[in-house]
Amino acid sequence: MNTQTLNHFVGGEWLSEPAAMDSINPSNTDDIVARFPVGDSGTIDRAVDAAHSAFPAWSAGSPEMRADLLHKVGEALFANASELGELLAREEGKTRAEGMGETLRAARVFRYFAGEALRRHGLTLESSRPGLDVATYREALGVVGMITPWNFPIAIPAWKAAPALAFGNTVVMKPAEGTPAMAVALARIFEECGAPAGIFNLVLGTGEAGAALASHEGIDAISFTGSRGTGAKVGAAAMAGQKRVQMEMGGKNPLVVLADADIDKAVGIAADGGFFQTGQRCTASSRVIVEAAIHDQFIEALVKRAEAIKVGPALAEGTQVGPAASETQLEQNLRYVGIAKDEGGTIATGGERIDCETPGYYMAPTVVADTANDMRINQEEVFGPVVSTVKVGDYDEALAVANAGDFGLSAGIVSNDAARIRDFRKNVRAGMVMVNLPTAGVDYHVPFGGTRGSSYGPREQGFAAVEFYTQIKTVYTGD
Ligand code: ADP
Repeated sequence: MNTQTLNHFVGGEWLSEPAAMDSINPSNTDDIVARFPVGDSGTIDRAVDAAHSAFPAWSAGSPEMRADLLHKVGEALFANASELGELLAREEGKTRAEGMGETLRAARVFRYFAGEALRRHGLTLESSRPGLDVATYREALGVVGMITPWNFPIAIPAWKAAPALAFGNTVVMKPAEGTPAMAVALARIFEECGAPAGIFNLVLGTGEAGAALASHEGIDAISFTGSRGTGAKVGAAAMAGQKRVQMEMGGKNPLVVLADADIDKAVGIAADGGFFQTGQRCTASSRVIVEAAIHDQFIEALVKRAEAIKVGPALAEGTQVGPAASETQLEQNLRYVGIAKDEGGTIATGGERIDCETPGYYMAPTVVADTANDMRINQEEVFGPVVSTVKVGDYDEALAVANAGDFGLSAGIVSNDAARIRDFRKNVRAGMVMVNLPTAGVDYHVPFGGTRGSSYGPREQGFAAVEFYTQIKTVYTGD
């Protein structure tokens, strides 16, 4: 396997700096995917300058020019999906099918926002004062900073960069240190598609570069996806500089299974939402709340399903769940299993690291049963193939448990009871509600985001993205 040497992409040029960190294949720790430089505040300064220089022409140009570029980037992602999906699986650890699916998603996001570039529209109104016209226009913000995580290393950069560029902004992105090769792959596609220099800049590095970006006085807005703790710092820096800010910070997503549910179907939904992509989705169904009447039967079937999942190297034929993305992540997963056990949970299956044909960060799909909702396993995001279950007496208790806690990203219910489904849809405290579906798995043309500790600021994606990536100007015209 080849090891790539990566560079920052600033002002349309590749900045060559000595490599200081490695990106390791989590399915085979002997395989170094890439070596890359670690940017600092000086690199961020250069990238922000480049984005500023590019902004006037990009924002004032025809929306058709922006649409054409985004369309081209989307088509290039489609054309290279198989190779990029493989690189994604190699670098992040999700399976080839998942990597390919994510790349195609990114392609479709660019295609969608190519169309949206032409829809940066305002309103015209009758003025309350005779003889005047009043209209609103949506304008680009300027330079947008983006800090992205490793779990969707091409889809998240796509769903931030595509709308930013569509509406006339320029971008400085700091991708996660775990997946720099995927970020560089996207930058290369921008370059190959003839993107004007400086509209999309990429600075590789750690949280230090992220912090320098979030507090940079030259940026106009910042979009962040990552952990809650980091989000709090990014948010504080944005506030201090009076920047527009948007943050996605994870979840502890409840999946309620009512007694009338078809057990097989409910187990399929819970296993898909809880274990696939190694549970490394902020929308993962990590907290399953089960009505007492079917509880034991459900747990038994879920355990069986978890044990049947084939865990293995991301690129191996037949692998259904790949490794954790890093040693730190695997350690965190195991630590939470230990905490849950200490707090009284039962490890119904899994709970340990496993060996596969190559050295990697593999973990058995895990079910922690008999947990109380106030245990840490139900209050904090684990981010691994770990599902905890809570037994409840009835629907009302299920809803109360679903709503307890600080997060509010996605929430699901499995039932055929129309009245309860309707009640859940109305009363569950979450930004996204899934009926007879896993809590994970979303479309790209509709808003994405949560309530309370999960999200801050305007929604991402789809028709909502224009809210964050533009500002409104109100224009009054007299005679
Ligand atoms: P995770 O636990 O998933 O790694 P983080 O929130 O630490 O989540 O990381 C998400 C992104 O935020 C990464 O690109 C990371 O480098 C960046 N980051 C980490 N610390 C900071 C910080 N203090 N300021 C800005 N960005 C940061």
